[in-house]
Amino acid sequence: AEVCSVYVLRSDGVLELFATEGLNPGSVHEASLKIGQGLVGTIASTARPLNLSDAQHHPAFAYLPETGEEIYNSFLGVPILRAGRPLGVLVVQNQAQRNYRDDEVEALETTAMVLAELIAAGQLEGLDKKGAGLDLSRPQRLEGVALADGIGLGYVVLHEPRVLVTNLFNENAEFETRRLHESLGKLRISIDDMLERPDVARDGEHREVLETYRMFANDRGWVRRMEEQIVNGLTAEAAVEKVQSDNRARMMRQSDPYLRERLHDFDDLAYRLLRELVGKPHGPLKEKSTRDYIVVARNMGAAELLDYNGPQLRGLVLEEGAPTSHVVIVARALGIPVVGQVQNVLSLADTDNAIIADGLDGEVYVRPTEEIQSAYSEKVRFRAKRQEIYDKLRDEPAVSKDGVAVNLLMNAGLLMDLPNLERSGAKGIGLFRTELQFMVASHMPRPNEQENLYSAVLEAAGSLPVTFRTLDIGGDKVLPYMRHEQEENPALGWRAVRLSLDRPGLLRPQIRALLKAAANRELRVMIPMVSETREITAVRKLINREVELLTRFGHSVPRRLAVGAMIEVPSLLFQLDELMQAVDFVSVGSNDLFQFMFASDRGNPRIAKRFDPMSRPFLRALRRIVDAAARFDTPLTLCGEIAGKPISALALLGIGFRSISMSAVYIGPVKAMLIETDIARLEQALLPELDKPSGGQTMREFLTDYAAQNGIPY
Ligand code: PEP
Ligand code: MG
Repeated sequence: AEVCSVYVLRSDGVLELFATEGLNPGSVHEASLKIGQGLVGTIASTARPLNLSDAQHHPAFAYLPETGEEIYNSFLGVPILRAGRPLGVLVVQNQAQRNYRDDEVEALETTAMVLAELIAAGQLEGLDKKGAGLDLSRPQRLEGVALADGIGLGYVVLHEPRVLVTNLFNENAEFETRRLHESLGKLRISIDDMLERPDVARDGEHREVLETYRMFANDRGWVRRMEEQIVNGLTAEAAVEKVQSDNRARMMRQSDPYLRERLHDFDDLAYRLLRELVGKPHGPLKEKSTRDYIVVARNMGAAELLDYNGPQLRGLVLEEGAPTSHVVIVARALGIPVVGQVQNVLSLADTDNAIIADGLDGEVYVRPTEEIQSAYSEKVRFRAKRQEIYDKLRDEPAVSKDGVAVNLLMNAGLLMDLPNLERSGAKGIGLFRTELQFMVASHMPRPNEQENLYSAVLEAAGSLPVTFRTLDIGGDKVLPYMRHEQEENPALGWRAVRLSLDRPGLLRPQIRALLKAAANRELRVMIPMVSETREITAVRKLINREVELLTRFGHSVPRRLAVGAMIEVPSLLFQLDELMQAVDFVSVGSNDLFQFMFASDRGNPRIAKRFDPMSRPFLRALRRIVDAAARFDTPLTLCGEIAGKPISALALLGIGFRSISMSAVYIGPVKAMLIETDIARLEQALLPELDKPSGGQTMREFLTDYAAQNGIPY
């Protein structure tokens, strides 16, 4: 080639001409292109090579006069990929019009692999000064989404530690091919072994995944591509890594969730193969750390997180992950902070790097500076001290300054939540989300598994009340093993009680499990997403039929049965009288009620701060509910997020709520607020304010002022 140039992707998303042989040397560090711009930007954004005999007539061509490249017609550019992510672009050019041969493309790609390691290791001269985005020695602040509360400091444990391939080029292709096949053989045997394990043999879903793995491990196309790389001069490890990297790049372009999932499977398989080749077969991934650690992963299953659990696990950082991911649900139950959707963290963080996971603001600091570290350590100490105060409040009665008792309940959903009942001093479980068991399982929980869970919950609660909510699935809570159709508006779609009533095959076994588990004691069943009172009647009918059946077959049934509804859909606000008469209790699901009243998706970060549940319209709606419940003497609770924040809980007290349910960790802060609040005085101040015209202003400021003036901690 007459020209060879390297473009490196900077942290600001700009590809900078970093070095060149053949182009104008003065343009080095000067010429640059944005991702997606020009041929080089296109290669970086698509992670695909471009091989052109007449580059200047390509529609994406962008002319950079400072480089003097106008005399070169043919162009071959390949992405510099590490773990499937573009770090830059490597280009060769020639004056003559020609197409580069496949082996030339391969050679350039292999060179790019070596460059990728140099860039990531911070070994490209001048890179640190220029601020390349992927230098592994500089401090990095990354933004993500806060998925589970808390702050964690520790050292990086990569969920799938990178297998470092140092020996890239082979001396004997035949020998390397043999090594590849030997390792493939071992990999296949290990999968077969897993398939024969008794727990897998019984378990449908698990088995399916492994069957897919087995199929892939025998995939001719995959094996052939690796063999070709060896023929081209790579070692077996480098060949696996190269094909894996191409595969990852494809994965990132793939929007079809099914195909993405399949490509993930290939990726996992390649990783296992790599470990076989370097003699570290895929075993239990956890290497016991003696220091505090934070697990960094693309994504992981809930069960895998449990493998890491221990007193030194301080946080979880994911490149993917959503509020409803199983692993996130479990992390929350374990009290582990999680930051998700942190782009590139796997390429930027290396084993043993210091790292901070800020699950309050959704930020991650890799190799933080001293100042950041000490600021966060201070924050953690402060939170721990506050926690000590809350712990002391545990056995204090939840009574306001003027003697009004308030029922503080906790939300739960998994077995591992139960110890919090005792730890927090909650007076019962106000919301047990039964769908969580369904969401973290790989198969539909069998009736006896459901019954076992409900029995364990009731046993842990002892004499304290538990309110079980029937399955709230559908919408974004998708069960992987249940066929479902794509809906345009899943939040408004076929979900919760709608789905349950259409699929009695799902609801009936659940009701039966609940009835059996609560034999001879009180059973409280709550229906999610009720829109019309006849949905309550229909569920009640189904429950009564089950009670009858169980009795007929000689089973004991609950001593008392209470059926309640969640108020989450605004239509209920205009049938409150009928509603209060149709139920034994109600609970406001303020998360959903707010999202539907303000037409504001609760999972969309762009609008998360736009509207405030402490706005007058929403608080007035809650007040109407309080009034209606009082008129009919219907027990009332609220179990959304606003119950757990002292300032919004203060508003709830002022409006008239005397029972609220929240995550266990918030019982302490809310109780601390309650103890210092004179509810009668609060009502006098708040209620007239609530009725004033506001021009859409929220009452948050009023509330914080009130709290500050009255010495109420919030
Ligand atoms: C709610 O909507 O407020 C609620 C408590 O239910 P979930 O958050 O499970 O939808
Ligand atoms: Mg809800």
